[in-house]
Amino acid sequence: MAKKEIPYKIYLDEHEMPTSWYNVRADMKNKPAPLLNPGTHQPMTAEELGGVFCADLVAQELDNDTAYFPIPKEILDFYKMYRPSPLTRAYCLEKKLGTPAKIYYKFEGNNTSGSHKLNSAIAQAYYAKKQGLKGVTTETGAGQWGTALSMACAYLDLDCKVYMVKVSYEQKPFRREVMRTYGASVTPSPSMTTEVGKKILAEHPGTTGSLGCAISEAVEVAVSTPGYRYVLGSVLNQVLLHQSIIGLETKAALDKYDVKPDIIIGCAGGGSNLGGLISPFMGEKLRGEADYRIIAVEPASCPSFTRGVFAYDFADTGMVCPLAKMYTLGSGFIPAPNHAGGLRYHGMSPVLSQLYDDGLMEAVSVPQTKVFEAAEQFARVEGILPAPESAHAIRVAIDEALKCKETGEEKTIVFGLTGTGYFDMVAYEKFHDGQMDDYIPTDEELQEYFQKLPKVD
Ligand SMILES: *Cc1c(COP(=O)(O)O)cnc(C)c1O
Repeated sequence: MAKKEIPYKIYLDEHEMPTSWYNVRADMKNKPAPLLNPGTHQPMTAEELGGVFCADLVAQELDNDTAYFPIPKEILDFYKMYRPSPLTRAYCLEKKLGTPAKIYYKFEGNNTSGSHKLNSAIAQAYYAKKQGLKGVTTETGAGQWGTALSMACAYLDLDCKVYMVKVSYEQKPFRREVMRTYGASVTPSPSMTTEVGKKILAEHPGTTGSLGCAISEAVEVAVSTPGYRYVLGSVLNQVLLHQSIIGLETKAALDKYDVKPDIIIGCAGGGSNLGGLISPFMGEKLRGEADYRIIAVEPASCPSFTRGVFAYDFADTGMVCPLAKMYTLGSGFIPAPNHAGGLRYHGMSPVLSQLYDDGLMEAVSVPQTKVFEAAEQFARVEGILPAPESAHAIRVAIDEALKCKETGEEKTIVFGLTGTGYFDMVAYEKFHDGQMDDYIPTDEELQEYFQKLPKVD
């Protein structure tokens, strides 16, 4: 049979879309460590978690054994508005680089939130609605997650309260207005609307906030307001489960043309897009059916995998959330103010942390000016202006393709292009004006935060 010519964009038909999410934990020999109660250090029970998250999501969070979860029809119908997302062969980038490597990217920026986050937002909002809740609370940093959740809540007629890191609230007024367009209420964090916000403001007057602070505030409001639960856009097992749609579609598209990737690359903030992209491939690797090089890319200014420690830590600054065992820089860590490229969370998904610790994937960190160089190089030939987060993956995809140019190897590289960068033009501006530098934390600075990790035996 003649080999099918590979088109620029591989689209799946609607009926070829996956109808179940895949739970990679089912195939892991070493399961991710359980979340612990921050007071007693005992594993969190479903009942305890049920005060914070809605019931179906708690069940997904705790389930290390079920491999496939059927996607409810309502969620599939919503997915069909913007999925399947295209898998694009980067012919123009390959040509520009003069590499024999074949590069593919899975583009998740084709919806108003501009990122993959909508895949989990709609799932989490759906289960909250199903439980008869009035609304949900959350935090957002750069704003993609808050936007995605606002969209999902508007669709399902749920109230949505977003705590937005103050510095982003002030610097990204357009993001804020997109969220308000979808009916969300947006509060700059830390705020005087919560006890933990008041406490943080008293201790650090004038602070511009962090994701960790905003999480503490959103959780406090959820647990103290009847009919509300808290939702989180990354890190959690349930979020990786929902994001597996990215990897399942990628695999189906590649299988359609008999393409087998050698290297799979994704940016890593809390790990949800990367976890989703690699899940079905990692599943094959865990079952001994295939082998892939899998690379997580993180900023050199917030290097959880490459310079963090694998330990139990708080998920938030206010220390109200359960403890998670993960690669972490310490919950007090806040990336330097010059850090523009997103991916600023101190910890990492417990699933990916375990896989990394078991040597099943690699991680590299990249300085932000190199990330923006790659973003620009990509934008100029591929017709998409990438989010700075996504550009971390582009950077390493280009580096790997250039290695192939030296060795003459025709490797197949797949990377996740998680979103678009239209709301990040201030960062692009800094880069163009030569105002961007590459501050990287010293070992001494990191050591200070490591010493404050909770003692868990
Ligand atoms: C949130 C976000 C990320 C990082 O989050 P993960 O949970 O690590 O995937 C990456 N890219 C974009 C565009 C985002 O919005």
